[in-house]
Amino acid sequence: MSFPESSPRSFKRAILKLSGEALREPGSTDNISPEIVERIASEVRDALAPGDLELGIVVGGGNFWRGASASARGMDRATADYVGMLATVMNSLALQGSLEHHGVTCVVQSAIEMKNVAETFIRRKAERHLGERRVVIFAAGTGSPFFSTDTTAALRASEMGADVVFKATMVDGVYDSDPKKNPDAKRYSRIGFQDCISRQLKVMDATAFSLCMDNNIPIVIFDLGPAGNITKALRGEQIGTVVTGTETVLG
Ligand code: UDP
Repeated sequence: MSFPESSPRSFKRAILKLSGEALREPGSTDNISPEIVERIASEVRDALAPGDLELGIVVGGGNFWRGASASARGMDRATADYVGMLATVMNSLALQGSLEHHGVTCVVQSAIEMKNVAETFIRRKAERHLGERRVVIFAAGTGSPFFSTDTTAALRASEMGADVVFKATMVDGVYDSDPKKNPDAKRYSRIGFQDCISRQLKVMDATAFSLCMDNNIPIVIFDLGPAGNITKALRGEQIGTVVTGTETVLG
């Protein structure tokens, strides 16, 4: 797929990755801001309005818990990671509620069985939901410790045959140097997977980059802060930085 020089929405099936932090109001002690979740849901609804996009969503859990941080403070890593995966389920349920409030039909599928609150992740069932234009929220990460929800997004995108991964984050793309330290830092419109991996760019983890590279799935990294950005990204407007197999382009 040539992305995104081709016409807007040249993709049919997409995975949107939201970090857990995105659901928290900065400075608030509440882990989830219902107002922010509502805003995200309304933007997703607007993006889906034309009716031609199949969307899966992966939500992180960093607003509650990160396994690596707890492990650095002495907790067993695998146990800490299971706690992190359960955190993603809380975020997924909150997002499901808001999406339904906005009239978007959606299903939560959890990689850890939790029958009372979510379907269990079954690939073929998830594919069927997507094909019938139901949003699938993939909860509980991969279901395995030592992974991240970025990797979950890359994995689900690969197995669902998605055309693209959208990573909504707190920065508006990938820069050639730290824009907070260097006022002349330039943003890439396009960067190659190999560059991201060899330069150890922290915007997404290396496992996620590798998985998308191996399966030829571009990643669009964009800032979810400005209102309307999720809608713009999912509608195929040029936004943020596109990570692809092709060469790196500045500006
Ligand atoms: N996690 C895991 N396996 C997975 C996905 C997530 O063990 O497949 C755990 C891990 O501890 C991670 C936490 O869940 O720190 C929350 O996910 P993540 O840090 O990716 O959330 P985000 O930074 O996107 O909010």
